[in-house]
Amino acid sequence: MHEVDYCTLGNTGLQVSKIGFGASPLGNEFGPLEMREAACAVRTALDAGINLFDVSPYYGRTLAEERLGVALEGRRDQAILATKCGRYDKRAFDFSPRRVRSSVEESLARLRTDRLDLLAAHDIEFTQCDQIINETIPAMRELQREGKVRFLGISGLPLRMLADVAQRAAVDYVLSYCHYNLLIQDLDRWLTPTLETKGIGLINASPLHMRLLTDQGPPEWNPAPEKVRRAGAEIVALCRRYGADPAIVALRFCLDHPYVSSTLVGMSGALEVENNLKALNTPIDPDLLEKISQIAAPVSEVTWASGLAENSDV
Ligand code: NAD
Repeated sequence: MHEVDYCTLGNTGLQVSKIGFGASPLGNEFGPLEMREAACAVRTALDAGINLFDVSPYYGRTLAEERLGVALEGRRDQAILATKCGRYDKRAFDFSPRRVRSSVEESLARLRTDRLDLLAAHDIEFTQCDQIINETIPAMRELQREGKVRFLGISGLPLRMLADVAQRAAVDYVLSYCHYNLLIQDLDRWLTPTLETKGIGLINASPLHMRLLTDQGPPEWNPAPEKVRRAGAEIVALCRRYGADPAIVALRFCLDHPYVSSTLVGMSGALEVENNLKALNTPIDPDLLEKISQIAAPVSEVTWASGLAENSDV
């Protein structure tokens, strides 16, 4: 049995599991998934002590929330439930106070609960920084005062915007993705120091670079540039030559980050949950890690454009 560790999320006092359950696959984002398999994955995670579950109305256009709500029935209190607001489709964004409020009401109903533990403004780079600071976050704080939300945060791709908002507004945590894993490590250059100074929690998502660091390889929509994909495929092949599972190596690497409280990995079934739990006590062969860093070095700061041009890091 693999012992799940817990870590305090910034100043929130919440004890989140070091491995968090990313629920975007429950919305069929990585391919079709049966409800039975989705529920089994969630229950296997809960049984093992994973308590952080991250979802959004955007994943499967509400399907992931709906399914997570069903899967957590009767066990809601074992979970730290995190969802988001502001993003509803590929090109549908609304960060207005009115929509934040209606979004939370809808999420509560789909998730079959009366409170959200964490609420993040989802992919903030798709609107102006000022709107997030002056409208969205105050609206989220109001919901917190009403007891519907316990803690609030922001998520998105461009690190500089995340750091800027975290510096200028009161947020409890930041959810960053595809900036800290075997392929890329610019998180600590642009974001972590600001969060550490202010005691803001940090959640790191996509340890597999959205399936790029697995035998199966990335889904078609994965936006990583070609040279990153090539480096990923090389790392996967190298891990296999060392007799290691690339997904486990990749997750293990992220678990060792000194400030991140939880690493969110998207999980499509009970078997993946069980496999990922192995990362908890599978150290990485130092020789393998050294060779991986050599492959990743040329792409270790390579990201892609996301959101409004004024917010993008690229
Ligand atoms: P990921 O890197 O966690 O990869 C997930 C994919 O890898 C899925 O297809 C999953 O089935 C597969 N996988 C998982 N474990 C595996 C294993 N052991 N072997 C082989 N394949 C395995 O990417 P992700 O799902 O995008 O990120 C994790 C979670 O983080 C998301 O589900 C979501 O909750 C969150 N997230 C949030 C944002 C945001 O807020 N903007 C962005 C990205 C991710």
